[in-house]
Amino acid sequence: MAKLEIIRIGHPTLNKVAKKMNKEEILSSETANLVADMYETMQTAQGIGLAAPQVNISKQLAIIHIPESSKRYKDLENLKPEQEKFVIFNPLITILDPTPQGMWEGCLSVPGIRGFVERPQKIKIDYLNTEAKNCQLILDGLLATVFQHELDHLFGVIFLQRIQNTKLISFSEEYDKFIAPIKFSEKE
Ligand code: ZN
Repeated sequence: MAKLEIIRIGHPTLNKVAKKMNKEEILSSETANLVADMYETMQTAQGIGLAAPQVNISKQLAIIHIPESSKRYKDLENLKPEQEKFVIFNPLITILDPTPQGMWEGCLSVPGIRGFVERPQKIKIDYLNTEAKNCQLILDGLLATVFQHELDHLFGVIFLQRIQNTKLISFSEEYDKFIAPIKFSEKE
């Protein structure tokens, strides 16, 4: 397995709508190898998700791994989805509840930056899994945010484009110093 290079904003691939994958392609050994390489790359980078366009492959494939504890995303520490690892091809998102829900997001393609994004709080995702079978997920709360962020990459959208108040953009160090302490003390 090889670690892949994660491309950053400014690279044109991140702005493109990625191509859907057919069943044969999804079931191929090339795709299985790509998924394995993407996992390794994501874990090395301490990310919780990675989309194929982020490794300069413009195809509708994304992986999401919700770890038991995440240093980058303290909000996710208490989340226990039924599965921890998701491999998603050709997703279709339907909004089930548009009530906005905000989270300070980050992205491996925008290193060192956090931004406050509001997204619909409940969604349905229809997609194909690694066996090219139709699957469906219904997600709310922070998982809904994580999946929407990741799947946005397949449609050429970066979280920065979804920030409504551009004052709510921060470097990670300043986020840790000024924003996180307030946020987490408010919760208690
Ligand atoms: Zn991202």
